[in-house]
Amino acid sequence: MDKLRGILKKYWGFDGFLPMQPDAMKCVLSGRDSVVVLPTGGGKSLCFQAPAMAMDGMAVVVSPLLSLMKDQVDALRTNGVPAAKIDSTMTSLERSNVHREIREHQLKLLYVSPERVVQPQFIAYLRDAGVSFFVVDEAHCISQWGHDFRPEYRALRELRQAFPDRGIHAYTATATTHVREDIARELCLREPAMLVGSFDRPNLVYRVQRRSDGFSQVRQVIDAHPKESGIIYCIRRSEVDVLCERLVGAGYRARPYHAGMDDDSRKRNQDAFTNEKADIIVATVAFGMGIDKSNVRYVVHAAMPKSIEHYHQETGRAGRDNLPADCRLLYSYADLRLWQSIIEKTATDATAIAVAKLRDMFQYCDRVVCRHRALVSYFGQTYDGQPCGACDVCLSELDGIEDAGSVATAILSCVGELGDIAGPTYTTLVLTGSQEERVLAKGHQRLGSYGALASNEARQVRDWIEQLVQQGCLRKTGEYNILALTPKGVSALRGEETPQLTRPYAKRVKKPQPRTQMASPLDEIDQGLFEALRQVRLAKAEELGVPPFVVFSDATLRDLARRKPKDKAGFLTMYGIGEKKCEAFADEFLEVIRRYCADHPEAETASDSDEVAVARKSERNRNETQRRAAELFAQGRSIAEVATFLQRKPSTVEGYLIEYLEDAGITDPSPWVEPTVVARVFKAASATKAERLKPIFEHLNGEVSYSTIRICLTCARNTTGAGHLPEQDRE
Ligand code: ADP
Ligand code: ZN
Repeated sequence: MDKLRGILKKYWGFDGFLPMQPDAMKCVLSGRDSVVVLPTGGGKSLCFQAPAMAMDGMAVVVSPLLSLMKDQVDALRTNGVPAAKIDSTMTSLERSNVHREIREHQLKLLYVSPERVVQPQFIAYLRDAGVSFFVVDEAHCISQWGHDFRPEYRALRELRQAFPDRGIHAYTATATTHVREDIARELCLREPAMLVGSFDRPNLVYRVQRRSDGFSQVRQVIDAHPKESGIIYCIRRSEVDVLCERLVGAGYRARPYHAGMDDDSRKRNQDAFTNEKADIIVATVAFGMGIDKSNVRYVVHAAMPKSIEHYHQETGRAGRDNLPADCRLLYSYADLRLWQSIIEKTATDATAIAVAKLRDMFQYCDRVVCRHRALVSYFGQTYDGQPCGACDVCLSELDGIEDAGSVATAILSCVGELGDIAGPTYTTLVLTGSQEERVLAKGHQRLGSYGALASNEARQVRDWIEQLVQQGCLRKTGEYNILALTPKGVSALRGEETPQLTRPYAKRVKKPQPRTQMASPLDEIDQGLFEALRQVRLAKAEELGVPPFVVFSDATLRDLARRKPKDKAGFLTMYGIGEKKCEAFADEFLEVIRRYCADHPEAETASDSDEVAVARKSERNRNETQRRAAELFAQGRSIAEVATFLQRKPSTVEGYLIEYLEDAGITDPSPWVEPTVVARVFKAASATKAERLKPIFEHLNGEVSYSTIRICLTCARNTTGAGHLPEQDRE
């Protein structure tokens, strides 16, 4: 693993591993077949790319889409990793270059399509080339249960027979056990290790809103992200076209994308988005599969998707660089009905499943539970990080109405008075005191509840009725959705329980929304410098003919803008900068930083390569970051993970961990320190009867770091409640 750590730093500029990466990499190194399931942004590609560098021979990666292959290969090459692809779009010169590199054993990774890799001549060719192992990327494409079945993937079972002694490793972000088992069976894997990571995406901030004025709600999200990249999903092509035109009309750089367009225009628009010539893609679900852009800062669903699987996948395209990103879902009952009619029109065996999934999706929208928890539990995993700090529910952004009790009582009594004869629309008429003939004709203006909610808009009242249905106080029966009181509704009427009712978003839209509530390293960075760096990145990307995020991720630019390195040595310590990128880009980027600091002397004073010092300068931000770290630790996240999410050095994060352990009185250090190490530290502590860290450190022959010792001792002290921690010695 130490060798891999060195490779990670040298080529990718990373300090540690993300969860599951060590296990997945061990499988690759040891030749044990594996199926690795990690959500988007989980760091799948590194699981096989780093071992490929550590092993003899060339790894063969099967990938379904040309555009994905190109981006991956471009990214690897800019990091100095010898990688190439073979596909039908290449000129014969390009192809013979690749063949030469293979012959000369220069390549460490070769990307190919599933069709090509199983051709008999190609298999024979690979036998001579010296393959280290095989990777099947987007492996769910092999399963009919997946959302993207590709028949050509079925032929990949040939690989097992042709290369019985090479490891085969399948990677996917699709969660279900069904798909996982299909993958293992179809690829004829031998007792594969099944590595399934958490499906939570802690850097995504989920918000769900009733759609009132859809266009301004969409604009609100866009305006919170000026010049940043975002995707807006619509249900139908016509909606894509209309929304996109309106956005362009309003001055946004938006492009449409849907299956009704010809291939060329689609490709042009996708490229414009990838290369940051356009900020916004307005799309149907047809968009996304072939896109690897890591710095998508927001995803808006202008309407409700048809399943949580779709929602998870589509929102998953935001924040692949693990920086905070916004996911906003706008929905209404009309979406539910639209999907129902679409599903009914294409009635098949799967209709019942589709309807059930649709219902789950709608419940997700309508329920007031933590979005992170709801999503993760949908995929059968548990979620412990309450409150998540990254959804509208946990951030208390949903406006509960203060007089929910009396509003609910009015609605429930109206249903009672009408005596199970009316649906939501008619009930609304009565509650709002409508003068319509059909109400008056029945004499319903004489009911006690007539006009009880007259000061509210009809659609608001209609909405509250639906909320009461969702909360189980009312139920709809029969073809006409006649409303009836449930036992829960009856006890609410008696005042034995108070339903919660919220207002749709439109009422609050004027309040400016914070950009994102995540403890944000963004606050600390110098926006002006960040912009300047983005410009060089764009120019560099154009010069090299690669997408900007291949040059540097947003995470790297932010680190540069925050820590403002002055020389190459400093440059090399930035997040995501390995030796090759340092060589290639340091001069130009350092020059921009130098110039910026010269023009902005006040920025210069704020600059400091010592990140702890920077953090101290802004106590408020530090507290925010600390708070966010605590939340992540509470979810059992490792130091490396928290360091990645918060873009802090592991040493800084260790400091946060100690504070968290103290504040929360944690007694068990095992999520952060191996149990065997914990035992050694405790033994050393009692052997030395030490008050200070240094004797313990020395007793352990310097094999355990000071911070690890501190973590263990903090937990021990929390257990016994005794004394205070030894002073930190000088390391
Ligand atoms: P996936 O393929 O699972 O969607 P990626 O391989 O694209 O995930 O990785 C997601 C992001 O995490 C990328 O920006 C990548 O550079 C970053 N990343 C991956 N591994 C690490 C690591 N060990 N340390 C820091 N960042 C990492
Ligand atoms: Zn939450």
